[in-house]
Amino acid sequence: MPMSDNFKKRLLPDLTDIVTHFGTPFHIYDEAGIIDTGIALKNAFSGIDGFMEYFAVKALPNPSILSIIQEMGFGFDCSSIPELVLSRQQGASGDKIIFTSNNTTDEDFTAALSDGGCILNLDDISLIPKLPVIPELICFRYNPGPRRTGNDIIGNPIEAKYGVSHDQILDAYRQMAELGSTRFGLHTMLASNELNYSYIVETTRMLLKLTQWLSAELNIRFEFINIGGGLGIPYRPEDSPLNLDEMSRQINTLFDDYRSRNEYAPKLFMESGRFMTGPHGALVTKAINRKDIYRKYVGVDACMSALMRPGMYGAYHHIDVLGKDPTKVPTEKVDVVGSLCENIDKFAVERDLPEIESDDILIIHDTGAHGHAMGFNYNAKMRPQELLLRQDGSVELIRREETMADYFSTLSFEKNILKK
Ligand SMILES: *Cc1c(COP(=O)(O)O)cnc(C)c1O
Repeated sequence: MPMSDNFKKRLLPDLTDIVTHFGTPFHIYDEAGIIDTGIALKNAFSGIDGFMEYFAVKALPNPSILSIIQEMGFGFDCSSIPELVLSRQQGASGDKIIFTSNNTTDEDFTAALSDGGCILNLDDISLIPKLPVIPELICFRYNPGPRRTGNDIIGNPIEAKYGVSHDQILDAYRQMAELGSTRFGLHTMLASNELNYSYIVETTRMLLKLTQWLSAELNIRFEFINIGGGLGIPYRPEDSPLNLDEMSRQINTLFDDYRSRNEYAPKLFMESGRFMTGPHGALVTKAINRKDIYRKYVGVDACMSALMRPGMYGAYHHIDVLGKDPTKVPTEKVDVVGSLCENIDKFAVERDLPEIESDDILIIHDTGAHGHAMGFNYNAKMRPQELLLRQDGSVELIRREETMADYFSTLSFEKNILKK
């Protein structure tokens, strides 16, 4: 069940006008859908005091989207200085930003801790002596190693470059407590696009258990656990959506048990990117060429600079052809391709689609997270514009398409030569 019926109802009647007005290709995002998902997430965890979603900025780093998310009361999960800047432009600071970096630089630390600061989530024990100041509140990213098997997409924890190992985690908190930190959180991120809610419940159970042990050993309390992102969305028609109700019911029970044993419970934080915005975006592109060799190809005016996931991960994105219902018109097996000189530049491979002619409009589903943001400029391909479908039905340009001038801008600099 990709792209929701509601998004289709809001988008499709006006799509021809939108295409005429803005031109193709573009990503278009659905404000109402993003808000509905935010409300669903809030409702699901309303039983847990202090529940907070920190939107993973990397999924869709556009200020107009971040502003919608900020207005819902959510925070931001950042892992670079520009992401911190984007979040602070929304007025977020302090406990509304989590900075989760890996292979952190001194500049990262300085930026994270200035301008109102953030919750610092340290990725390694060796970073402790590199901290420019000792924050009152500190969090570590935990890597359980062989204690958990990773899910298919993110890989096995023992092979992951992230987080503090089990053997080091007690020492990490002990060092920070001795240095003067007084408030603590615990984070992990083990799943990516996980549709099985039990995996996320298990992660919650693991973190709660770990805080109990750390609390007992060090006589400290944990203010929050952060179960990371990784909540999945159904990209394929046959995928069933994550069972949010059952997931939250079981997580609520874990927190109730914790509270009855300890007289308090930490808050629950998560940092979903894909789940918040993924289904609420679509890439709209126009068919420009057809080619019939060993296979049939439909060439469109977008390429992988607009959406890397199929090329990078072989990811499936559902495709509709505007005005052509595959159950009512003849279909054929085609590859849908861009113009980039890499054979992985394909939005679909051997996909049964309605017979496509030039100027047909293709709607590539579920591009609202890790879509535009992941795009690159290889082969001098430009990234497309981004549009926002507002709740009142108006459509707003929220990022223009890249131009050749943007591409050449890094070639304009002052002469700089190191002479022999
Ligand atoms: C990428 C990332 C996320 C978001 O992942 P989704 O799969 O989009 O939910 C959250 N936290 C961290 C640390 C990340 O790197």
